[in-house]
Amino acid sequence: MQVIEQIQACRATIRAMQAEGLRVGLVPTMGALHEGHLSLVRAARKCCDRVALTIFVNPTQFSPNEDLDSYPKPLEADLAACRAEGVDLVFTPSIDAMYPKGMETSVHVTGLTDELCGKNRPGHFDGVTTVVAKLFGILPADAAFFGEKDYQQLMVVKRMAKDLDFPIEVVGCPIVRESDGLALSSRNVYLSTEQRKQATSLSRGLFAARQSVNQGMTSVKDITGKIRAIIEDAGPCAVDYVEVVDAETLATLCQIDRPARICVAVKIGDCRLIDNVPVDAATASR
Ligand code: AMP
Repeated sequence: MQVIEQIQACRATIRAMQAEGLRVGLVPTMGALHEGHLSLVRAARKCCDRVALTIFVNPTQFSPNEDLDSYPKPLEADLAACRAEGVDLVFTPSIDAMYPKGMETSVHVTGLTDELCGKNRPGHFDGVTTVVAKLFGILPADAAFFGEKDYQQLMVVKRMAKDLDFPIEVVGCPIVRESDGLALSSRNVYLSTEQRKQATSLSRGLFAARQSVNQGMTSVKDITGKIRAIIEDAGPCAVDYVEVVDAETLATLCQIDRPARICVAVKIGDCRLIDNVPVDAATASR
């Protein structure tokens, strides 16, 4: 496994793989790798000959009041996990290499970024699309793998890749969960034992709502009320949003009458958790 910090060397390595006729899959991450990240590596491995993973805690997607400084950075453990998973190349650039003095460009996707997390995390998605656009330039892979855990991010990156004609297929992969339903996240380590128990309320709420939709409930007011009650009953927290959105446009829905996503964001202590499930009234049993 090659570990590369330099941009030129990284691009040259990807190009050399492709010159041999090999298909390259890219997995962008901020490190602190867990089974969710590794599921993306396995998805990439299935349809690509080589897998490149990036580890970069991207400062521009954090607001000043967020957890940039305390974000976990267990690099050695991450590299060991990549080796065990058969990753071919890990790109670990410095902040100065990614954001050199004089850089004046940022990438903004309109519309999709105004919804959900966009409302309370100003600038967050500009940070995401700018760094992903740079990674697509540095690692010109054939396909890039993103988790549905960050569903809005996935849709925003898909939009950007389409609009800017990046010749990279953006592939979404299902959410990996703990056995009690909690979606895996690098931020789960911030939770105390008590908060960790409480955090299952997000997936419990979402699964209960999905069941109600499958049994015929279509009113978004009823669905979100049910989820809020489950989350707020579980313990002290600040609900950022509980929303049902169109699965493609992320527009807020009043009725579930098309493929949709139920999305939640909740702060428990200092830890902001997000989760979502797909629902579709058309395929629900009546
Ligand atoms: P992060 O390191 O948190 O920026 O995540 C890197 C990638 O891993 C993103 O595409 C995430 O959506 C994905 N990811 C994070 N957690 C999960 C999970 N529990 N299941 C599937 N993908 C995930």
